[in-house]
Amino acid sequence: MLVHTIDEVREKIEEWKKQSLTVGLVPTMGALHDGHLSLIKKSVEKCDKTVVSVFVNPIQFCPGEDLDKYPRTLDADEKLCNDAGADIVFAPSPKEMYGEGHILSNDFLTYVIPPFFYTNKLCGKSRVGHFDGVCTVVNKLFNIVQPDFAFFGEKDRQQLIILKKMVKDLNIPVEIIPCPIVREESGLALSSRNKYLSDDDKIHALALSKILFNIKACYNKGITDVKALTETAYSYLNEHHSLEYLEFRDAQDLEEKKTADDNTIVFIALKIGDVRLIDNIALK
Ligand code: AMP
Repeated sequence: MLVHTIDEVREKIEEWKKQSLTVGLVPTMGALHDGHLSLIKKSVEKCDKTVVSVFVNPIQFCPGEDLDKYPRTLDADEKLCNDAGADIVFAPSPKEMYGEGHILSNDFLTYVIPPFFYTNKLCGKSRVGHFDGVCTVVNKLFNIVQPDFAFFGEKDRQQLIILKKMVKDLNIPVEIIPCPIVREESGLALSSRNKYLSDDDKIHALALSKILFNIKACYNKGITDVKALTETAYSYLNEHHSLEYLEFRDAQDLEEKKTADDNTIVFIALKIGDVRLIDNIALK
């Protein structure tokens, strides 16, 4: 069932809560692929009812980013959700979420601001304000849908860690369920932004997963020095890649690691032309 308004969602949720049914929420920005579908299927398995939100959230895009050209494929998304067993596809307009004129500056909107220690690094460094927008919209979705469980991909690991922190710090009564990264056979992590890649770009994009897999293989052989592990990446990079970061950080609080251990996540972001891609791997 496709719904566009908060009231329609609330009506259904009320009905379900009266029947003591559990509700799962899968927040997405649409252009759904098998990565999203793995989250939806997990929710359908675990919960009595599943709500998938499809909303390209303007306040998590920075100036100059791809808000206008972000792929929007609602008809196809709705079908995929229905086939996967979702009960509601919630696709609000920006106006429905943020009001008349949807003024998006934090001079006019109450924001949920995650801690600076978590947002001043990795993607937050180049995407200033991005995680404020993410936490704000996810908090709104939690209030609208009141889910028992919410499903997020490890593909966006910094986001996942920040959202867990938000839920803990604000005592939000929802359990966050992390879901593993779904990859193409080639190793490339699925992403809606892969649609921007040409065939050649897609080959260059394999550098991300190759670097991460190789670092993990080196770690498994006993190399723990982060400097030495970082150096193994350079042979995979060429003039087609603009590396934004390759960092080793703690899985819980994103503290920097000098020596890799089983609690380490390796994070990478790089650009191929204008397309910015991210990936990560847990060393455990
Ligand atoms: P997005 O539509 O990009 O905001 O993603 C919505 C949710 O799907 C987020 O929790 C993502 O982490 C998750 N997701 C996106 N790509 C993948 C993937 N390849 N594997 C697992 N989860 C993913």
